[in-house]
Amino acid sequence: MEARSSYLLKLEEQLLEQQQSLADLIVSEMGKVKKEALAEIKKCAWVCRYYAENGAGFLAREPIASDASESFVSFQPLGTVLAVMPWNFPFWQVFRFLAPALMAGNTAVLKHASNVPGCSLAIEKLVQDAGLPNNVFRSLLIGGKSVKQVIENPKVKAVTLTGSTPAGKSVAAAAGSVLKKSVLELGGSDPYLILEDANIEEAADLCATSRLLNAGQSCIGAKRFIVVEQVYEQFRDAFVQKMQAAQYGDPHDEKTAIGPLARIDLRNELHGQVSASVAKGAKILCGGYIPEHEAAFYPPTVLENIEAGMPAYDEELFGPVASLFKVKTEADGIRIANDTIFGLGAGVFTSDLERGKRLAEKGLDAGCVFVNDFVKSDPRLPFGGIKESGFGRELSVFGIREFVNIKTVAVK
Ligand code: NAP
Repeated sequence: MEARSSYLLKLEEQLLEQQQSLADLIVSEMGKVKKEALAEIKKCAWVCRYYAENGAGFLAREPIASDASESFVSFQPLGTVLAVMPWNFPFWQVFRFLAPALMAGNTAVLKHASNVPGCSLAIEKLVQDAGLPNNVFRSLLIGGKSVKQVIENPKVKAVTLTGSTPAGKSVAAAAGSVLKKSVLELGGSDPYLILEDANIEEAADLCATSRLLNAGQSCIGAKRFIVVEQVYEQFRDAFVQKMQAAQYGDPHDEKTAIGPLARIDLRNELHGQVSASVAKGAKILCGGYIPEHEAAFYPPTVLENIEAGMPAYDEELFGPVASLFKVKTEADGIRIANDTIFGLGAGVFTSDLERGKRLAEKGLDAGCVFVNDFVKSDPRLPFGGIKESGFGRELSVFGIREFVNIKTVAVK
């Protein structure tokens, strides 16, 4: 355990030392703004330190009284875990899996998204340079079609995928066919409920910030804003103003709020979802067009008058597009919030904290619900979804125990 912990601290040190060049690599491969790329590298350093300091405690033997003279639970590594990862946080998604996996004594192979091979290789080099034994972590530059074959390899004991729901279904099916454990962190269409007693200015500010993070390409970005009618106009006006104020442009420029989307085809797909929603009656309050530029920019966009049957109601919009809903009551709001195949994150804004906690705990169907704030991942808190947002948890004590043999030892 001590050796694993010191490797993770070495990884932390390297990430912090190389943060500028690693952040530049992220910007060049997937286009997020530099300040967000730097924050991402620092968060990877944090998760390494977190498991270096807490991992041994999370995996310590747990005595349990039974009929045996002695019985306890021991957490043993599983072996090699395959990680299939997305491009949107090309370092963070990998490190939030890798730090606990290494601390638990597992080895790993990474199949990263095809548009971030440089990040994939840079992570492999960081692990090598941290002095971990050869082949404890390797990067495979393969396409999605080869993943099934890797899962079926007897040396691979389990698989984790962060990505879209269709990719998750395909990987879970392959893992199920050979009875291997899987953890899935998939898409989301996170609802935020804004109640009549909320601080509306603050709610609009936090909701716009969350919607625009990473140019809207975050699984836990706030995506649907469900506002009770007494405060709908007030929220809408403040929110649209904040969305419109965010300038897209060169991700290296300090003043740029959002960079281009990661790929032209993804931007076109997003615009197709917006256009199809408008064709069915949604109204554009701002944005909603493809700018004349060779890069994959998409302006902050706000839609209202959204109904079931429109992509803006039924699907995940993976870009800077917000959907507004006006509801009469809290109960109507909860119904629309939960009327989705997804269940990743959610938020509720209210000045009545007891009401907020009640709705967070018992009302909103999601893996993570924040009151008066937007959902953020944090090494100390479990992270994951329900429904078609996936299963299993990452981070915290729950994350490190996903890929271990929870072994019972009993002595007569
Ligand atoms: P994606 O297209 O599903 O790709 C994710 C990874 O899966 C990539 O490495 C991809 O490889 C691979 N892949 C795709 N189809 C596959 C298949 N049928 N079998 C095996 N592997 C396959 O997702 P993305 O566009 O990169 O990321 C966006 C999605 O990820 C969004 O839906 C977002 O909500 C979700 N996401 C979820 C979380 C979370 O924590 N819940 C976090 C971030 C993102 P190729 O690149 O080679 O196709």
